[in-house]
Amino acid sequence: MTDSFIDRLCKALRKGSVLTGTDIASRYYHDLAGKPVTQPRAVVRPRTTEDVSSLLRFCQREKVPVTTQGGMTGLVRGALPNPHEIVLSMELMTAVEEVDISSGVAVAQAGTPLQTIQDRVGQEGYMFPLDLGARGSCTIGGNISTNAGGNRVIRYGMTRDLILGLEVVTADGTVLQGLRKYIKNNTGIDLKQLFIGSEGVLGVVTRAALRIFPAPRERQVALCALPSFTQVISVLGMARKHLGRRIDSI
Ligand SMILES: Cc1cc2nc3c(=O)[nH]c(=O)nc-3n(C[C@H](O)[C@H](O)[C@H](O)COP(=O)(O)OP(=O)(O)OC[C@H]3O[C@@H](n4cnc5c(N)ncnc54)[C@H](O)[C@@H]3O)c2cc1C
Repeated sequence: MTDSFIDRLCKALRKGSVLTGTDIASRYYHDLAGKPVTQPRAVVRPRTTEDVSSLLRFCQREKVPVTTQGGMTGLVRGALPNPHEIVLSMELMTAVEEVDISSGVAVAQAGTPLQTIQDRVGQEGYMFPLDLGARGSCTIGGNISTNAGGNRVIRYGMTRDLILGLEVVTADGTVLQGLRKYIKNNTGIDLKQLFIGSEGVLGVVTRAALRIFPAPRERQVALCALPSFTQVISVLGMARKHLGRRIDSI
């Protein structure tokens, strides 16, 4: 990769979306594991799906690998770039575009922090059930790409169970418009499932349609300290039998 690649990259993309040299803060090559890698050649911060598409089309033509970054809270170093790669940071795609309580769906750009979605949906008396300790920093795109579990998984399932549709850009810049908003959908292959949990290797998630639920009006809490795992399983089984799907964990 030569410097003229960077010049061409800057020309091909929206003005101001490419960071190079000292403008690249250490957070783009440093994660929670604490061991930084080599600074990437450039960081690109798209604002729209079309920006993501232009970047990927350009990088494919130039044969330059791209690593996508959400909130960088993943604990397996999956968002760290290899030397000479381009970082695609989703940090400027943070809009909650729609909250439709009559259909039980919210649509957000993939760089939106999980907590922003929770708070926005909460203003309508609804909840987006996915919840994890990294909520203030992790993004919905990262949650989808890692199929995050979180602490309400017993009641609401994994991230996979909370996604109605996805918009994804593949490596050649093609935009897959799969932003479906309904639970009932039996039109052929459920392509979105390929992208959920695949850590960004098959494409960049740009927007997601999320299932939302009425927030519970009240909560009753029991603290169960049990001496063995076998007893944990049996208490869970008993609670499920008597409370059905209303049981949750924190
Ligand atoms: C305090 C704490 C608690 C946590 N609790 C949990 C938990 O309960 N359950 C759990 O599963 N995880 C947990 N995690 C791990 C982490 O928060 C999750 O994996 C989270 O989903 C990652 O989101 P992120 O936006 O930070 O993604 P990143 O770390 O930025 O990226 C993770 C992976 O997704 C890819 N990626 C990111 N955005 C996109 C996109 N838009 N399109 C395509 N690929 C993309 C990256 O390339 C990388 O491979 C926790 C982490 C912390 C620090």
